[in-house]
Amino acid sequence: MKRIFLSLAALAFFASTAYCDDTKKLMEMIQKLSTDLKQQIEKESIERKMDKAVIMSRLSALSGGKNDAVKSVPKRKAGGNDELLVESYIERLKEGNNRFVKGKLSSKNFAKQREELAAGQQPYAIILGCSDSRVSPELMFDESLGQLFIIRDAGNVADSVTLGSIEYAAEHLHVKLLVVLGHTSCGAVKATLAGGDVPPNIGAIARRISPAADRAKAKNLDEKATALDASAENVHEQIDACSTQSAVLRDLVESNELKIIGAMYNLETGKVEFQ
Ligand SMILES: [Zn+2]
Repeated sequence: MKRIFLSLAALAFFASTAYCDDTKKLMEMIQKLSTDLKQQIEKESIERKMDKAVIMSRLSALSGGKNDAVKSVPKRKAGGNDELLVESYIERLKEGNNRFVKGKLSSKNFAKQREELAAGQQPYAIILGCSDSRVSPELMFDESLGQLFIIRDAGNVADSVTLGSIEYAAEHLHVKLLVVLGHTSCGAVKATLAGGDVPPNIGAIARRISPAADRAKAKNLDEKATALDASAENVHEQIDACSTQSAVLRDLVESNELKIIGAMYNLETGKVEFQ
């Protein structure tokens, strides 16, 4: 940009000396040209910054913040089936969880990532998890800002509000992977197994877990095994709900634009087992 203005200045100098009669007119033309050029350069600069933010977000998603190590960046786009890409995201979650289990978390530069993400988000996975304070997806997958689109409620149930959030991420952010994440010793599942009177809003949660709890009870396992089985069944129940209660998600799954998988987090070991 600096070079362009220097050229314009030189042109103005020579023009004014060579054609004295038309100097004023010439200077006006040069002034206009200079203003137009400046506006164009500023516009392109803003566009480049926005492109860079999106690219950096993708790099960060695929490299765990170690951008230099990334040799190629798979592209996410609306439509189309890209199973390898989705598998790479699942692998990324597994690798992050391994680091979490071992206590060897990756370093994160939040200040830098905030700046990179300010122009927009492009998370690579949606997580429907439980609100339990011990079940934090960003921590268990060793992730940072902008990578996971997380919806949490007690019992990781899929109701109309959570489904709406998932639909937004899948349809508008083009996230191709949804993980329904249950966990061991889930209080919401245990409360549903126990039954009894509960306030209406908690009842709304229990009603969504009940089919899973009933299936687990029918297996006549001991109390601990029943609770664990009910949590696993609940993951399946909520995966089914995503398709049966959301036409948007059902269509995306059927057209291979969204993959839904289940997973269980172990409170004691920190390990996530993918179903
Ligand atoms: Zn829970």
